[in-house]
Order: sequence, then structure tokens, then C-alpha cells
Amino acid sequence: MLALVLERKGELSLREIDLPATVGPDDVKVAIHTVGVCGSDVHYYTHGAIGPFVVREPMVLGHEAAGTITDVGSNVKNLKVGDRVCMEPGVPNMSSRATKLGIYNVDPDVRFWATPPVHGVLTPEVVHPAAFTYKLPDNVSFAEGAMVEPFAVGLQAATRARITPGDVAVVIGCGPIGIMTGLAALAGGCSRVFISDLSEPKLQIAAQYSGLVPVNITKQSLNDTVSSATEGWGADVVFEASGSPRAYDGIFNLLRPGGALVLVGLPVEQVAFDIPGAIVKEARIETVFRYANNFDRAVNLIASGKVDLKPLITETFDFKDSIAAFDRAAKGLPQDVKLQIRLGA
Ligand code: ZN
Repeated sequence: MLALVLERKGELSLREIDLPATVGPDDVKVAIHTVGVCGSDVHYYTHGAIGPFVVREPMVLGHEAAGTITDVGSNVKNLKVGDRVCMEPGVPNMSSRATKLGIYNVDPDVRFWATPPVHGVLTPEVVHPAAFTYKLPDNVSFAEGAMVEPFAVGLQAATRARITPGDVAVVIGCGPIGIMTGLAALAGGCSRVFISDLSEPKLQIAAQYSGLVPVNITKQSLNDTVSSATEGWGADVVFEASGSPRAYDGIFNLLRPGGALVLVGLPVEQVAFDIPGAIVKEARIETVFRYANNFDRAVNLIASGKVDLKPLITETFDFKDSIAAFDRAAKGLPQDVKLQIRLGA
């Protein structure tokens, strides 16, 4: 099967590779149509590792995917050949304690596409458990279907925040996950979401959405902005989505007493944490690792029209131009939110 293979750090090739193709009784086979390029895919390309996950042998990239079912196993009842679907890339051990608790995203045995040593889906066809495959309504495109995965991270963050209608939120970091977290917070009932960054082009993309209020921290203080908007009370929820250790400097000043800090961005180094600042406000601190039980909600929100992710798709590349797509993504241009690769017609 032809696939986009990360041979080793810094070296991609589009070549034939042997991939599992047997459809088990609980599986479906999917002809891949669209795959989003994720920051994690790019990081494996440029750095060869993310934390403990190290690329030691050639690995197919890609985990944000949508396509069409071409075969179903004998036990599969909820899906049929021809259904348009998106897939949840992490498959846990179905008998594990974490899975039984409903927190299958933190199952130590989870196998996640394009996380070494598991192959991803930048290839024309994949086999996947039907239980982690979700039907797309007719009004949701394949391109939107491939956005469900990153949007599910935002929904996980909004869920962990336990938003109350009318809450005021802050999102630190205006990358794809920051914007999607802001949109999920609005869908979850926030009245306003301040979103901060150093990059004006990124903020201008967020500013297209009513309810997202851009704050350029090279020009204005986030703390002053939030304080004056809330009469000095502070935000109900602060989402940290930049992964920058500097974001933690004074972060509890943004929060109202009893508010929630939700950690979404994964810092690559250790972070100094103001524990007294958290304690005096009795702040609730939540963490987010991928998502669990949010793909169907993400699809529902997109289908309802309440969340429009189409403006976040910057450019679509042909499968044959996959390497060019990754080289473009590796540049990290501020106006690029999501690049996608199209395999299907
Ligand atoms: Zn992703």
C-alpha cells in the first residue's frame, strides 16, 4: 500500500509499505478521503520524538481522518458499506480498568495512530474497530470530518472545565487547538472567550468568530483586559493552550476565586507553578489528554451548524504532494491553521 512514511527524523517518503488489511469481525475497512496535518505529526517529522515516544522504525503519519466504509466485519451492526465516517485514532484495550471507567484516553495500553510504534493513516485504506468509527451526516464534508479529531480535544477541555452558561473564559494560545478550545467553550455556554497570542495573523483568524475576543499580548495586557471586562473579578475558566512555560507566569491572576484552570497545551520543559496563587483562590485545576466520549458530540455540533470549522482549513494538498504539505506545515506560518491532504476524489 502506498503511504506517507516517516523513515526517520527529517526524512519522509511516499512509498509502498505492508500494512494490516484483514477485517476482523468487529472492524470496518475505510477508504481514506481526507487527513489533517497535526502538530504532532510535524513534530515527529522535525524532532523524531514527542516525550517518551521515539520514532525508531519507519512509521506512517496522520491521525485526523475521514473516509468511506468499503467493508464491514460480521459483528458490525451500526455501520455499512458506503457510509461516510470519521475515526477516533486511539484504540484502548477494551478490557482495561481505564476503559471500564470510561477514561479510555488514559488507558496505558491505548494504541494511537501515528504514535510510535503505531502506523497512522496517510494511506488509501485502513482497518479500524467499528466502535471507534463515527458516521458523518450528509451535511458534514470529509474535510470537516477530518477536523473532528482536533475539535474533540477542545470539547474535552470544555467538558473538563464544567462550564456554566454565561461563563467568561480565557484561552491562552491561538493555535488550532486554542481556537478549537475557544469554539468548544462557546458551544458549551460561555458568553465570551478572550483568546491571547503574540501573533496578529493568528488572532485575526480567531476574530472571524463572534464570541472569540482576540488579545494581542504584544500590545495589551491580558490581565488588564480580563480584569476590566469582569470588573476585577476574573475569568470563570482559563484554558492554557499554548504549551509555553511563560504562560504560567501570573496565570492565577486571570482567574476568579473558585475558577478553573484547564491545562491543554503540553509544555516541553518543566514549568514553575504558583501554588499559593492557586490555593488562595481555591482554584480547580484540570488536565486534558486527547479525549474520550467526545467524537459523537463533535460531529453533532458540526452537523447542527453551531460550530463551523471550515474557516480553519487553510489549504488542501493532493496525496502525491504530501511531503510538500509537511514541509509547509514545518514552517509554522502564522496564517496556516489547518493543512489537509486529500486522498479520495
Ligand atoms: Zn491531531
